[in-house]
Amino acid sequence: MSWEDNVRRVVPYVPGEQPKDSQKVIKLNTNELPYPPSPKVTEALKRYDVDKLRLYPAADVGPLRDAIADYYGYDHDEVFVGVGSDDVLATAFLTFFNSDKPVIFPDITYSFYDVWADVYRIPYETKPLDENFHLVKSHYMCENGGVVIANPNAPTGVSEMEEIDFIEDIIAANRNSVVIVDEAYVDFGGVSALPLIKKYDNLLVVRTFSKSRAFAGMRIGYAFGNRKLIKYMNDVKYSINSYTMNRPAIDLGVAVLSDEEYFRECVAKTIATREWTIEELKSRGFEVTDSKTNFVLAAPKCIDAKGLFTALRERGIYVRWWDKERLRDWLRISIGTDEEMKALVSAVDEIVK
Ligand code: PMP
Repeated sequence: MSWEDNVRRVVPYVPGEQPKDSQKVIKLNTNELPYPPSPKVTEALKRYDVDKLRLYPAADVGPLRDAIADYYGYDHDEVFVGVGSDDVLATAFLTFFNSDKPVIFPDITYSFYDVWADVYRIPYETKPLDENFHLVKSHYMCENGGVVIANPNAPTGVSEMEEIDFIEDIIAANRNSVVIVDEAYVDFGGVSALPLIKKYDNLLVVRTFSKSRAFAGMRIGYAFGNRKLIKYMNDVKYSINSYTMNRPAIDLGVAVLSDEEYFRECVAKTIATREWTIEELKSRGFEVTDSKTNFVLAAPKCIDAKGLFTALRERGIYVRWWDKERLRDWLRISIGTDEEMKALVSAVDEIVK
């Protein structure tokens, strides 16, 4: 017998590689925006009263939670804010998935879901996406302990909601469990389930400042749901760590949200660059999914995906490749600036010529 017999062992999530700040790479591997955060952040930082850092932050994330609630037209009590949507999702898993029945999510999706299930000892089952990487609705109409759907999905980029009914049918069929819809990428062209929180008290919609608001480094995520759901999440949060959000995150988050024009500009540029990238890759024989996100999932034809991943890396271009069934032939490429994507396409030409 040793203390190690009692360790909560897990196989951890593997984040994308973060090169040292001094390294000059084209970083297309973790779906950050290539643009800086809103200039309002720089202004707010210049005015920042450092003395405030003596004091604990608002445990209920006061001003940022209010700003998010106002921006989307919901009540303070219908909003939960956390340290990135990873924190929000982890809190939601711990709060709502407490059944002997399995939580269900797709076989290809955000690879943190099974890690949270494992660390919290939550039983889960994965359901295969169809051959075009779409959800099969009937798979989510069974007895379960919860449902998790990323929409648009990652790393496929595919969005389910050409019509909102698709997700609504799943939520309606699962009134006895909580359905989490992870909308990390929704601003790049997906359709949101957000209006459905007024109709269904079992729906939690999760969002982030990390992608469309170019603020991954500050770690701000949030969720909307019926006030009862949010209250339960806050009870769990306050039972672990009440001061999750630091003061600069709260203050600068408010500044980010106040710059609608800059947000729209960044999103529009990203979508235009994405469409250009998809066309360029397709014209070189790649299979590319119909992405509604700030990345593309692309399968090369004249070279295997791992070989291309390695060759790009040697040229200082970082993308993502997984040694996993159904994903092995694909690369996930985040959308950078026009110049970065031109460099990617030129590197591909050089590698496969
Ligand atoms: N959900 C999905 C689908 C993601 O791809 C990511 C980014 N890795 C996250 C949530 C978490 O993002 P963050 O914690 O930066 O909000």
